[in-house]
Amino acid sequence: MGERKRILILGGTGEARALASNLIALGHEVTSSLAGRTRAPQLPPGPVRMGGFGGVDGLAAYMQEGGFTHLVDATHPFAAQISGNAVIASAKTGIPLLRLEREVWLKPESANWLEVPTMEVAAESLPAGARVLLTIGRQEVGAFFGRADCQFVARVIESPETVPEGWKLIAVRGPFSLEDEIGLMRRHGITHLVSKNSGGDAGFAKLEAAAALGIEVLMVRRPKLPDAPTASTVEEVLKRI
Ligand code: NAP
Repeated sequence: MGERKRILILGGTGEARALASNLIALGHEVTSSLAGRTRAPQLPPGPVRMGGFGGVDGLAAYMQEGGFTHLVDATHPFAAQISGNAVIASAKTGIPLLRLEREVWLKPESANWLEVPTMEVAAESLPAGARVLLTIGRQEVGAFFGRADCQFVARVIESPETVPEGWKLIAVRGPFSLEDEIGLMRRHGITHLVSKNSGGDAGFAKLEAAAALGIEVLMVRRPKLPDAPTASTVEEVLKRI
């Protein structure tokens, strides 16, 4: 291998774990950072630190004190705050940043998607009486609490603290097969699916299932991130580091 690098990966995704494992196999020193949102996170190989850095300055200080030579932002495309902080901390410290960002999902030809800019607009766009499957994580379900005229099934990794009466919570971690997704949507008589445009292979089956069943998808667009050098696959990051 070339020169040994000391790399901080901002993680919380499957790609971040795969990247850590590949970089370690190449002989680099890798530390992964997790926000600490879930009680039992899937851990990458190698050293892991948990919890926020305390903003941009905390992240910059952590990288300088740790002697890191590279920063890779492999967080989820909807984790906009930490991705913005990474851009500024990189500029402040001169430690180069590479963002790993999966390609967006494209609408299958037969699918019925309404693209919306925010969760709030997704919530407003549901017709009265809709039976809705939310696959948006637990942090943003509150945007739908006002829609007492719809029925909700929320699939989450960990349950939110509270949901309105009548909501169904399914706490389970993916990935799910096409058969799993079709079964779930049929069992609950789902008419609408709300999804973030997260991209990646792992979550795509729900969109194929919705297309197969004629279920309308409210697809929430990604937040706009500040520009940064970006790779779309783990392999591309490995080439560019
Ligand atoms: P966020 O809104 O962008 O970040 C909020 C704050 O959490 C950040 O300012 C930072 O605190 C801390 N933080 C976030 N990611 C961190 C990391 N990898 N290491 C250390 N601190 C981190 O993030 P979020 O949307 O809450 O997501 C949190 C984590 O869950 C991310 O690592 C992301 O990859 C993962 N995740 C998010 C989603 C999603 O839909 N948002 C889905 C799957 C996985 P300080 O300012 O104190 O440093």
